Amino acid sequence: MTDKVITRFAPSPTGFLHIGNARTALFNWALAKSLGGEMLLRIEDTDRERSTDAAINAILEGMEWLGLDYAGEPVYQSKNIDRHTEIANQLLAEGKAYRCYATPEELTAMREKAKAEGRPMVYDRRWRDRPEGDAPAGAPFVVRVKAPTSGEIVVKDQVQGDVTFKAENLDDFVILRSDGTPTYLLAVVVDDHDMGVTHILRGDDHLVNSARQITIYNAMGWNVPVMAHTPLIHGPDGAKLSKRHGALGVGEYRKMGYLPDTIRNYFARLGWAHGDNEIFSSEQLIEWFSFNGLNKGASRIDFAKLENLNAHYIKNSDDEALYELMVSLAEELDDQKNLSGLKAHKNQVLAALPALKTRAKTVLDLISGADFIFSARPLQFEDKAAAAVEGDALDVLQKVEPVLAGLNDWSHDGIDGALRAFAEEHELKFGKVAQPLRAAVTAKNASPGCFDVLLILGQEESLSRLKETTAV
Ligand code: GLU
Repeated sequence: MTDKVITRFAPSPTGFLHIGNARTALFNWALAKSLGGEMLLRIEDTDRERSTDAAINAILEGMEWLGLDYAGEPVYQSKNIDRHTEIANQLLAEGKAYRCYATPEELTAMREKAKAEGRPMVYDRRWRDRPEGDAPAGAPFVVRVKAPTSGEIVVKDQVQGDVTFKAENLDDFVILRSDGTPTYLLAVVVDDHDMGVTHILRGDDHLVNSARQITIYNAMGWNVPVMAHTPLIHGPDGAKLSKRHGALGVGEYRKMGYLPDTIRNYFARLGWAHGDNEIFSSEQLIEWFSFNGLNKGASRIDFAKLENLNAHYIKNSDDEALYELMVSLAEELDDQKNLSGLKAHKNQVLAALPALKTRAKTVLDLISGADFIFSARPLQFEDKAAAAVEGDALDVLQKVEPVLAGLNDWSHDGIDGALRAFAEEHELKFGKVAQPLRAAVTAKNASPGCFDVLLILGQEESLSRLKETTAV
């Protein structure tokens, strides 16, 4: 019987949920599901100074928003410190680790020597074989693991293939600091083992850590999990994704009005491919996901593509679901004006959505597209809309107003019939009537078409607005 596949997402809660980390979570989720296993969540909060509750919440919320579920409760690494220490002591007792009493001065000298010789600093193992009796009484020490001194350490990476590290370049790294706290390198291995993790998939900035961690697995006689390292996400200019490229946190994408479907699809595709499929559902991602599809090279984010994909998902979303997203975004942005408007005019917003969603790229576009419905009077005209209701247009509007006021059938056909008859009577092109009318009741440069806005606003509100616009 083969073991159930267990993957994990192991973020450090020291900031927002970075989009690169979110993609790692997404891949781990897809990998686990594609192999009939499950993903676990481990919050790596051992750096007590830098870890914050706000960051933990951002991780939990971000994962929920993206629909990335994990089995059981999140594991907090800080709660396992005793266990990490126990393993360090076991390695010590078995002679697989040792106390190192090298002073800060000695380490500095080692670092400077390495620098002068143009090579990376490698601890020279001066305490590896010294008897305990040599230890200076009461002096502080760290615990270092005995790493191989010669040969190679091979990370069997599922993306890059075998990645080989020379043992001489990987020193006996610290597993317990002088204050007795376990290091990250140790904690991760112990937790992954205890949590039954079978597959580790993380960013390729962890490749060297993997090589080091293999030493601990071997020392403990534990199976090394399957490992895969994904290249990072780069900005459009090819440089590592940074603040100046725009949004870094998942929450920022939400606030810009991106749909979770878009983010899942776009960022999965950014580091992974299945043939030339650009648009796929989460079910398809799970069905198709395998290491083979992961890119070997870094990928560049393309914001225009991201926006177009979002427009696609908006167009294909259910109106009721979009309405909910609009309300929760207005809430999140503390946009009280639109929030109360959206809530008070739900039916009108729903009626407007089929037209709004054909032109929106983000949920913010939907909100600003809908706000004509609940604009307070007197309307504040945007420039082009103001120009569209002046001069001849004003004359047309003044004349059409009584026609609409007297209309008994306020339906698409009813309005259409009345306006066409009016245009014919005054020898006007239909657009010369419809355009000013649309602008007069919305006060906006862009909105759904004339019939849509008149129907959505209803006869009474449309006429009140029209009267106000034509009153000079
Ligand atoms: N906590 C680490 C990070 O956020 C990841 C650890 C791991 O995946 O092994 O970079």
